[in-house]
Amino acid sequence: MKQHYSLCLASNNEHKRREISQMLPSNFSLLTLKEAGWSGILREDHDTYEGNATQKAITVAEALRINCLSDDSGLSVEALDGAPGVFSARYAGLHATDQQNLDKLIEAMKSIQDRRAKYVAVLCLVWEGKPYLFKGEVTGLLALEPRGTEGFGYDPLFIPDGFSSTFAEMSPSQKNSLSHRSKALVELVRFLENTFS
Ligand code: IMP
Repeated sequence: MKQHYSLCLASNNEHKRREISQMLPSNFSLLTLKEAGWSGILREDHDTYEGNATQKAITVAEALRINCLSDDSGLSVEALDGAPGVFSARYAGLHATDQQNLDKLIEAMKSIQDRRAKYVAVLCLVWEGKPYLFKGEVTGLLALEPRGTEGFGYDPLFIPDGFSSTFAEMSPSQKNSLSHRSKALVELVRFLENTFS
């Protein structure tokens, strides 16, 4: 019989929670911060995905003494020297909405021909107090105009290589089969199954 794993997700992002729980095998259960009893603030003070992911997972794991998972992710645009990158959630300001961030990116890319971009996700698993990092990337192009209503964040602009639809035009399961987050999760699941079962 397969071992059962329980993890607290150190994130307040409902979109990330939904995607991660859809992609995890059935022998994993994911607790929200609320379910785990966390009501503090999750800080992200670093300028790398790895630094922020580690900070978020360690903070919650140490406070609640549980195994924890975090996700730090973003979109890097070639012609913008990698921006918004690690600052994707705050591209249009500290408390910007997804729509404001998307509008700022559309404006920044208005007359730019080179549309190459990539999504990056770094997951940090804190297991019995030790951090383990897993990274996934997906390359693609930015559409000229936003298309689609699925997904979140910059998905209406992002067309993964080899496809003509944006992530926001794809079903959740199609996005999940291609995404940066799913690639990092595959590594994490492999690690847990090899190491702890
Ligand atoms: P974080 O909470 O600091 O990791 O910020 C992640 C931000 O990156 C999100 O708010 C989105 O703007 C962007 N992002 C990361 N992953 C995705 C995705 O799968 N789709 C769309 N936007 C994403």
